[in-house]
Amino acid sequence: MSAQTLAGKVGLVVGVANKRSLAWAIAAAAAADGASLAVTYQGDRLEENVRELAAALPDPLIAPCDVTRDGDMDAVCAAIDARFGGLDFLVHGAAYALREDLARPFIETSREGFGVALDVSAYSLIALARRAAPLMERRGGGSILTLTYLGSQRVFPNYNIMGVAKAALEASVRYLASELGPRQIRVNAISAGPVKTLAASGVAGFSGILQVYRERAPLRRTVDGADVAGAALFLLGPAGRAVTGEVLMVDGGFHVMGQ
Ligand code: NAP
Repeated sequence: MSAQTLAGKVGLVVGVANKRSLAWAIAAAAAADGASLAVTYQGDRLEENVRELAAALPDPLIAPCDVTRDGDMDAVCAAIDARFGGLDFLVHGAAYALREDLARPFIETSREGFGVALDVSAYSLIALARRAAPLMERRGGGSILTLTYLGSQRVFPNYNIMGVAKAALEASVRYLASELGPRQIRVNAISAGPVKTLAASGVAGFSGILQVYRERAPLRRTVDGADVAGAALFLLGPAGRAVTGEVLMVDGGFHVMGQ
């Protein structure tokens, strides 16, 4: 059996809705790799789901955290500090856009829809990193990981405002990596191929995107949560110690194809 690379490490995972969530796949893999975890849920609607899932983890801290509320983020970080006395890694898997903005023409994106998508899906990384950094610094450094998609650079049908939010998110990864690097805090993203999750179900025509990946990705398949979690463990753990500011493609190679 290989050694557990996250043994003794403490992680915060934001963005678990259900067992299909990419953040949950990462949480489960990190726990199996020895990490102690704080897992958050967005609102009352998801609390039961997340509590049921998290019951499989060894003694998790479970707390509400709507990333549009500064008070929620403050409270989660204070609770982590009280329970664990610091933090080693943060997994950011929160994203949201108004449903109508993922179905109508991009040019119809409303000011409100633009603001909501960018706030939840991109600004929240900055807001969480600011709160997590002092807790990480106390433990000699840390690793922050977010989840993005190729729609940040290329046009996919109906991905729309989420593509703009992911572009902002990826730029934020680079700026955060630059600022937090001297404090030994690394910041990276995984750009995952399409996976059928709750968030994905909001994108009209998502099954068509999956089919294109099956046909054209070099590996001729789509990816799953376990594929993403494997790459996440690399970026969160000691093997990724010299990697920061990176967007790691975990998409069966789809992004290299011209057609
Ligand atoms: P998911 O299970 O639906 O996870 C998205 C999470 O974001 C949900 O838990 C959602 O909660 C949460 N969220 C939304 N608004 C929030 C808020 N205000 N505060 C806190 N949390 C909030 O879907 P997923 O596909 O695993 O998404 C995780 C990440 O992976 C996202 O950044 C997504 O863009 C990215 N990603 C997904 C794919 C894919 O094909 N699935 C590909 C590449 C990247 P609610 O359910 O309550 O909204």
